[in-house]
Amino acid sequence: MMKKTLTILSFFFTLILLAQEKGVIDNSNSEFVKFKSINIGDCVWTDGFWADKFEVAEKVMVPYMGTLLKGDTGHALNNFKIAAGLKEGKHEGMFWHDGDFYKWMEASMYIYAINKDEKIITDLDEIIAIIGKAQLENGYLQTQTQLKNIKPFSQRKYHEMYNSGHLYIAASIYYRITGKRNFLDIAIKHANNLYETFQPQPKELARFGFNQVQIMGLVELYRTTKDRKYLELAEIFINMRGKSELKPDPSVNTNNIGDMTQERTPLRKSKEAVGHAVLALYYYAGAADVYAETGEQALIDALDILWGNIVNQKMFVTGACGQKHDGGSSHRDFVHEAFTIDYEMHNQNAYNETCANLCNAMFNQRMLSVKGESKYADVMELVLYNSGLSGISLEGKDYFYTNPLRRTFDHKMGITDYANRVPYIPCFCCPPNLVRTIAKSSAWAYSLTKNGIAVNLYGGNKLTTKQLDGSAIELTQETQYPWEGRVNITIKKAKKNVFDIQLRIPEWAEDTTIKVNGKSVDTEILEGTYVTITRKWKKGDVIAIDMPMDVNLLEGNAKIEEVRNQVAIKRGPLVYCLETPDLPENTSILDMYLPLDTKFTSTYKKDLLGGITAIEGTLKVRKDKKEGMYHELDNVQWESINTQFVPYYSWSNRGTAEMTVWLPLLWN
Ligand SMILES: [Zn+2]
Repeated sequence: MMKKTLTILSFFFTLILLAQEKGVIDNSNSEFVKFKSINIGDCVWTDGFWADKFEVAEKVMVPYMGTLLKGDTGHALNNFKIAAGLKEGKHEGMFWHDGDFYKWMEASMYIYAINKDEKIITDLDEIIAIIGKAQLENGYLQTQTQLKNIKPFSQRKYHEMYNSGHLYIAASIYYRITGKRNFLDIAIKHANNLYETFQPQPKELARFGFNQVQIMGLVELYRTTKDRKYLELAEIFINMRGKSELKPDPSVNTNNIGDMTQERTPLRKSKEAVGHAVLALYYYAGAADVYAETGEQALIDALDILWGNIVNQKMFVTGACGQKHDGGSSHRDFVHEAFTIDYEMHNQNAYNETCANLCNAMFNQRMLSVKGESKYADVMELVLYNSGLSGISLEGKDYFYTNPLRRTFDHKMGITDYANRVPYIPCFCCPPNLVRTIAKSSAWAYSLTKNGIAVNLYGGNKLTTKQLDGSAIELTQETQYPWEGRVNITIKKAKKNVFDIQLRIPEWAEDTTIKVNGKSVDTEILEGTYVTITRKWKKGDVIAIDMPMDVNLLEGNAKIEEVRNQVAIKRGPLVYCLETPDLPENTSILDMYLPLDTKFTSTYKKDLLGGITAIEGTLKVRKDKKEGMYHELDNVQWESINTQFVPYYSWSNRGTAEMTVWLPLLWN
C-alpha cells in the first residue's frame, strides 16, 4: 500500500515538475483547466502581422512609453521616488497611476523574454529598488495615498485594489521570466498586509474591493508562491461583494455604487454583465482564475451566463465592451463607461475603452483555458485584431481611449474621446494595457493540452516548448494571416508517440480545408471548433490549413435598433471601416450607402497603412442633403463612387477623419 502510494505520489510530482510554470497565467497546477499555458518566450513571432507589431512594441511602444512614465510628463516613477524619500515633490497622475506603471514594467518584461536585452533588466532592477524603498515597513505601498497623507483603505476611490493587483501580476511575471525575487518579495510583503486587513472581513471594508484587479493578482501570486492564503483572499473578495446594503458610505465615492461597481448582485447570482466595463471584466477574469483553482460549479455557471450576456447582447462587432459613456442599468442604477441594457449599441457614442476591450480578451483567454472551446478564442482574436489594436497608432506613440464604431466631424466629444490618437493621456490606463498585450500575444498563440498542443492564433511564429509529459516539441508557422488564409505548420521536433495537434477553426472560416503532408485529413472540419488531428508526428510533417478569406457582410440582431438595415464588412478576423481619406471631397460618412449587389475585391497594398489588404467596391453617395430634424422623403439623388474599406484598427492614421463600421444597405 505504502509503496503504491509512493509510486502515485512520485508520478504526481513528476507531472508537476514537468508542467510549465512560466506562463502569462501559470495554470500548470490548476486542476480545473483544460488548456495550460506555454512558458513566456516559448513562442516567438517570426514574420508577418504580429511579428511587425511586436517589433514596433520592442523598438517604439515600450521604450517611448518608458520615457514618458519615468520622466516628468508621466511622473509615475517620480511618485515612487518621492515616496521613497529620493526626490522632493507631490503625487501627480490618477490614483491608479502606480498600477499603470506596473503594467508598463510588465510589458518590458515580455519584451525581455523574447529579445534578452539585459539593459531592460538593469533598468527594471533600478526601478524595483526604488519601489522597494517606497514600501512601508508593514508592506503597504500606494504612492497616491502615501503622498497625500490619506489613511490606508479609507476610501475606495483611491484604487488601492487596482494598484495591488497589477503589482502582484507584474512581480509574478518578473519572477517567472528572470527567477529574481526582488519584485516578488515586495509583492509578498504587500499582499500579506492586504491579507491581514481583509481576511477578517471587517464590516466597514465589505464594499472596499474595488477596482477588482486584486483578484487576478492574488490568484497569480498564489500560483507563484503556492501560498494558499492568497487564493483564500481572492475568494473572499468575490464572496464579500454584493452582500452589503447599497447606501452611501465614506469609503464609497459619489455615483460609484450598485450595478456601476457590480455590488448590487453577488457574482454567483448574476445574470447580467453590469456597470463599469473595465471593472466588470477584470472581476469576471479574476473569478475565472479562482474557478481554475477551486472548480466551484456556482462560479463557472455564473461566468457562463455573464459571458453569454456579453457576447450575445452587449458586445460590439469589434469585440468592444462598454456601450455608453453614461447611462442606466436594467436595475436603474447610474452607470458610467459601462455595460447598459441589452442591445443598446450606439456606434457613435459608444465608450468601448481600450482597457475594457482588452479585459474582454483576458476574460476570454481564461475561459478558453478552463474550457478549451474555440468560441472563447474567437472573441480573444476579435479583440486583438480590432478593438484592442485600434487603441494605438501604427507608429506606436499615440493612443485612443474610447473606440467608437462611427465618428463624424461634428461629434460632441465626451471626456476621453479624441478626434485623433494623442501622445499622452492623463488617465494612462489603456496605453500600457495594450502594449503589454501586444508584447505577450505570442504566449496566447498556443496551449498545452492533455495529449498534445492547441493552436489558438495564427501568425508566422516558431514554437519551442515541452508537452505536459515533458517531451520536446518544436514547430514553425508560416502564413500571411490575416491577409491570407493559408497557414503552413511544419513539425521540427516531436516525440515518437501519438499525440494531438488541435487547430482552431475560427467561427467565420466556413469551408476550411486541412491537409497533412498533402493529404486531406479524415476528420470533420467544423468552423467554431478545434479540429483534433491525432497521429504519430515526425520531423518534416507539414499541416496546411486553408481558411477562405471571403468578404462577409454582417448584420446585427433585429433588436439592435442602431444597426437595423445596416451591414458591417468583415474579412477573416478583421472588421473593416470606411473613412474620409477614401471618400470624395466634402462628402460625409453619413451620405454613404452600400448597394447589396456591390462586388468586392481584396487587394494587398504594401504601402497603405503599414501594409494592409484593402477591400474595394462601389458605393452610392446620397446627394440630396437636407437640413432639419425631420423632412419629407422626395427627390432622392444618387451618385456612384468606387472606394475602399480599410481595417478598423488602422483608421485615423491619415489625418482627422470621419469613420464608420456600419453602412446602410440599398436593396435593389
Ligand atoms: Zn483604460
